Amino acid sequence: MIPRVRRISALCALGVALAACGTASHAGSGHQAPAEPSVSASPSASASRPPVLAPGPGGLTPVFEHGPRTLGKTVALTFDADMTADQGPRAAAGEHFDNPDLIGTLRVLKVPATIFMTGRWADEYPTEARSLGHDPQFEVANHSYSHYAFTGDCYGLPTVAADKMRSDVERAYASLHKAGVPHALPYFRFPGGCYDKRALRALSGLGVTAVQWDVVSGDAFATDADAVTKQVLDGVKPGSVVVMHCTRSAAPTTERVVRAVVPELRKRGYRFVKVSELIGETGGHR
Ligand SMILES: [Zn+2]
Repeated sequence: MIPRVRRISALCALGVALAACGTASHAGSGHQAPAEPSVSASPSASASRPPVLAPGPGGLTPVFEHGPRTLGKTVALTFDADMTADQGPRAAAGEHFDNPDLIGTLRVLKVPATIFMTGRWADEYPTEARSLGHDPQFEVANHSYSHYAFTGDCYGLPTVAADKMRSDVERAYASLHKAGVPHALPYFRFPGGCYDKRALRALSGLGVTAVQWDVVSGDAFATDADAVTKQVLDGVKPGSVVVMHCTRSAAPTTERVVRAVVPELRKRGYRFVKVSELIGETGGHR
């Protein structure tokens, strides 16, 4: 299965809108920060206040990639619910941007998980969004409104203007709330995992922690569940964050991958946790 990375990169180059396209990110641009708008809504008002990381140098939005490597065998599975503004007609025609079987399997296997949901997805699937938002097995966080990129060059994704970045994230929180997610977490995953200093600065007033990953499952557009399973099992280390997708049309093997990965990792002594637990162990404060 050599061409896997190349194949995914090629798909990404076509402009596909999935976070697994990216493996990494960088904070390097020296662009000027946009003017900070005044603080309006808080992204989360959870009674049990999830932990967040302290801001980075200069007040930049902090970035989390994985938990401690030495505190035991924990691993967080994360699932991105991607959807773009123009995919409504495809959903109406029957294409599944959701994946109820996957969520059902996570429930049967009792695997806690973190869902990074686009606002557009919550608009499309409010019943599922509400169900996830009320299920203590899951935590729901923000994956932008319409999966536009927060840097100028991100796998061909359309780009959010710097002065619209903050309002895009706020719009996603509003959609999640409207769908019935009562306590969306103050965690944000950049579409494609693409960010730079300008993006971190643009979101700095929101109090969110940016959540990346250290294990790319490769489930985006994969057709070989065994290959994805192997990639996950080979990549997981204590404290790992695995990025997957809960969008069946673009990640059709993910449910089978979960069925294979979960018992094997448990056999190896791993315990599944949500991202908030890893952030807490990493020194996040409430
Ligand atoms: Zn995504």
